[in-house]
Amino acid sequence: MAILDNDLFRDFFLGFVRLHILFHAGHEPVCGVDLMAEMDRHGYRIGAGTLYPLLHRLERAGLLRCEVRVVAGRQRKYYRSTPAGAAVLAEARIRLRELVGEVVEDQGPPIGGMAAQKEDGR
Ligand SMILES: [Zn+2]
Repeated sequence: MAILDNDLFRDFFLGFVRLHILFHAGHEPVCGVDLMAEMDRHGYRIGAGTLYPLLHRLERAGLLRCEVRVVAGRQRKYYRSTPAGAAVLAEARIRLRELVGEVVEDQGPPIGGMAAQKEDGR
């Protein structure tokens, strides 16, 4: 599945990918290769050219902290969530719960629209 290749879908789903990253980096230090495999498992085919700039942005924003480790003789960057990253994830969790209630469970009040128009007799 190449949903990240489509510009419109990309806007939506990169937000999901960011949340996945914050979630996993909150549990354990994660490197780009781990994250690409994990995103693949979730059905997001995300390449290094998309993932690394995204990680750097989250790091610059103070949501991730990077640490270099040597694994099998190679330097590898591992990312962990910061307290600011955890706070963003906590806020996102509240909003996700709300969104799931509406979009997945289809529970939510009407916001007006057609109902309001009917009352006007239009
Ligand atoms: Zn995941």
